[in-house]
Amino acid sequence: MPLKPWSKALEHRQKAWLCQAAPGLHVSLLSWWARHGRHDLPWRLLPDGRQPGPDHLLPVYPVWVAEVMLQQTRLAVALPFWCRWLDRFPDLEALAAASQQDVLHCWQGLGYYSRARRLHGVATQLVAAGRPLPHDRPGLEQLPGLGRTTAASIAATASNSADPILDGNVRRLLARLLAFPAPPRQATPLFWTMVELLLAGKRARDFNQALMDLGALVCRPRGPLCHHCPWQPHCHAYAKGIQHQLPVRQAPAPTPHFMVGVGIVLDHQGKVLIGQRQPDGLLGGLWEFPGGKQEPGETMVETVARELQEEVGLTVAVGPELLRLDHAYTHRRLTFAVHLCHVVAGEARPVANQQIAWVCPHDLHRYPFPAANTRMIQALGEHLSQA
Ligand code: SF4
Repeated sequence: MPLKPWSKALEHRQKAWLCQAAPGLHVSLLSWWARHGRHDLPWRLLPDGRQPGPDHLLPVYPVWVAEVMLQQTRLAVALPFWCRWLDRFPDLEALAAASQQDVLHCWQGLGYYSRARRLHGVATQLVAAGRPLPHDRPGLEQLPGLGRTTAASIAATASNSADPILDGNVRRLLARLLAFPAPPRQATPLFWTMVELLLAGKRARDFNQALMDLGALVCRPRGPLCHHCPWQPHCHAYAKGIQHQLPVRQAPAPTPHFMVGVGIVLDHQGKVLIGQRQPDGLLGGLWEFPGGKQEPGETMVETVARELQEEVGLTVAVGPELLRLDHAYTHRRLTFAVHLCHVVAGEARPVANQQIAWVCPHDLHRYPFPAANTRMIQALGEHLSQA
């Protein structure tokens, strides 16, 4: 069945319908959640392991860490990182006292490292000012990296405040419930109105968690399990048989691709040269082997030689290719050509990096590296063990 184009009249009808249906949707969702929700997530529990009651406050710090980890990462991936993080930095003071290198090391493999730097920066600032993490949404929204929905989710989980949420799962759920005929991001104000109507200020902690669980477990991105869904009798997409076509997706922008030359430079003692990226920006504060993008008309050997001259001031002889690997980031794809090199002239210095270091290959695991470099380290280890 084709979707009706969105219009003000249709929006008005959908709001009117939701006003009337919201109480029933609220009750049926909470009753489904009582039986099928993810009640054992550690940041949703009191410190003694009990389920919180409506008047309980949960510690904000574990919830804050979980919500930041979950901003761009699935729960199954984030959960072991959260456990390790809480072991290593159990509270705001422990996080503030850690070095950025320790923090990035603990985050290594989770991606989007600016999140780790922001957690660390906030902890450092709050502890220095003698202030705790805020409990309420307006206070949380003042912290770097927290938008309205993450701040609302933290506040509602920690203190059961009446704040609705609108993350990717909830947008998908609403787009299907309403059979919304355009990309959900085009209707953000309308969707906020919808979640406010649905929540109606009641049992916000449970309701928000139930919404997230329904989106993650039942109204899944691919293959929604409509026969297990408490909202199926009300769902416009299900009634029209179009749940698999929704939400309408925004046409993705083409992802640019770049070739990157990387030099693994070994000195006469067998130590390898690494550099630490500048603190801000993509992968800020992480360590890497020197290298950079191939310029038009360059061979890869020329790229590696030029990058090492520009980045660390070394003239090198570029040896054979050790490894070639592809790596995708959100907005670009890279192919790394990794070459072994040795120094011909010059003294290494940090031209483009914060600092450089010559490190024994078996000590490289002590430094936080981006995921692509981890495979380079593995290839280097295999090469050295065969040499
Ligand atoms: S019935 Fe299906 S499409 Fe509709 S909300 Fe439930 S799981 Fe999603």
